[in-house]
Amino acid sequence: MKKDQARYIFVTGGVTSSLGKGIFSASLAKLLQARGFRVTIQKFDPYINVDPGTLNPYEHGECYVTEDGAETDLDLGHYERFLGVETSQANNVTTGAVYLSVITREREGEFLGKTVQVIPHITDEIQRRMLVLGESGEYDIVITEIGGTVGDIESLPYIEAVRQLKWKLGDSRCIIIHLTLVPYLNSAHELKTKPTQHSVKLLLESGLQADILVCRTEHPLPKELRRKIALFCNVNINSVIEAADVKTIYDVPLNLLEEGADDIVLAKLKLPKKHEPDLANWKAFLSRLKNPTSSVRIGLVGKYVELQDAYKSILESFIHAGAANECKVQVISIQSEHINDNNVAEKLADLDGVLVAPGFGDRGIEGKITAIKYVREHKIPFFGICLGMQCCVIEFGRNVLKLKDAHSTEMNPNTKHPVIDMMEEQKHVTEKGGTMRLGSYDCRLYKKTKAFEVYRSQNITERHRHRYEFNNTYLKDYEAKGMMAAGVNPQQNLVEIVELKDHPWFIGVQFHPELKSTVENPHPLFVAFVKAAMDYKHQG
Ligand code: GLN
Repeated sequence: MKKDQARYIFVTGGVTSSLGKGIFSASLAKLLQARGFRVTIQKFDPYINVDPGTLNPYEHGECYVTEDGAETDLDLGHYERFLGVETSQANNVTTGAVYLSVITREREGEFLGKTVQVIPHITDEIQRRMLVLGESGEYDIVITEIGGTVGDIESLPYIEAVRQLKWKLGDSRCIIIHLTLVPYLNSAHELKTKPTQHSVKLLLESGLQADILVCRTEHPLPKELRRKIALFCNVNINSVIEAADVKTIYDVPLNLLEEGADDIVLAKLKLPKKHEPDLANWKAFLSRLKNPTSSVRIGLVGKYVELQDAYKSILESFIHAGAANECKVQVISIQSEHINDNNVAEKLADLDGVLVAPGFGDRGIEGKITAIKYVREHKIPFFGICLGMQCCVIEFGRNVLKLKDAHSTEMNPNTKHPVIDMMEEQKHVTEKGGTMRLGSYDCRLYKKTKAFEVYRSQNITERHRHRYEFNNTYLKDYEAKGMMAAGVNPQQNLVEIVELKDHPWFIGVQFHPELKSTVENPHPLFVAFVKAAMDYKHQG
């Protein structure tokens, strides 16, 4: 399809937040991709932060990092996991980023003395960014998820931008899908459509008529109710789509298929149906996921465990890796702050593997180190990611190399043994958000390592998000005692992977493998870690 023919689908949300716009967008995209279209998804967030990089994970969950090093909303993780297509800086836009570019241009004098206003300057900038991916010629369909809920003050410029775009592009190149809630009132034994009617009206007040309604519901939507919603919301009856609660988010594409969502969307966009959706791999994954032949219990040791979204990509990677092994992976969250020498055996009892999570700052760090000592000594499979890898280096330094106060200079800038330290060139950068090693970097694996066995390749690339590194001054001492560098960044000679010689499965990685695991390509490290946990359990 020519680039001036790309189609745009906008997804808005009504009634309440947390309806799953991200999962819906990813699922619809999957169906359209399965029909042979090139699809991408982008997210527009109405907050003022320029990107989510500086946000506490308790605010919006994990920060997802793209290949090109953008720190983005976790929904981009869903997009990549469903589609297997990489996203980039352009796929996540915030109000902060939009204002920053308009204000920067104003300071440079670009507006020639004119008053700079929300309409047209901010809305023009939003539209420019809404069109960028479609105009690249790489995609036939661009799905744009508008964060927040219709009616929020901060969403208004986005809704206005969509209104103008729809007017410019026409109805066959631009459609609006509104995701809404149809609650069930227990006392009345009834599904209620009024909130949906109101949120569609609210959208209409801003000049946008929804083309398709996707109704989240805990009970099936009977035909009469669909008709009622269609009549009062001014859409065709077949454009009222039921989105029932599901056991796994990976069922959503198939449920939408059953509702004919892809047919309706293609008809509205005046696109051919091409072929039946090819979902063979997807279905095979679901069948493995739902019919496990074994199970393991993996401990996830971290400081944000109260909020599931903080480790979203890790949890999803375990789902992919579990399915690949036909094994149900039960992830047990363990608050690292609560682990100490006295209770570590009890806290880690009955686990078949332990993953120590990424993180920043020193809260809970000693608990992570204590957990690692235990799994190292008891030969329980261990997987350390980013800070988790740094902790296993600190633990080994303290307890095996006997470097008493070994630490990372992030936690103790005055340690005598900075086994984890900042690279010289990064020490001079002080601005938060500007100092990190972000995005994809090369790693070269040494043969005869577990990591090489796992990847079956010597040259890999993985995504990063950190400031501190393994301090190479200590490498010889570590290797002499059995902690080996298994992979190194060839350009800067930075240790990317450490592993123990004398342990069934003990691997720490400075990068974030969880960001590259997808349904159809589960990450090999997660697959191998789950397999190691199965073997450990089997040996009893
Ligand atoms: N805080 C550590 C660093 O900056 C690890 C970061 C992480 O786990 N993502 O290097």
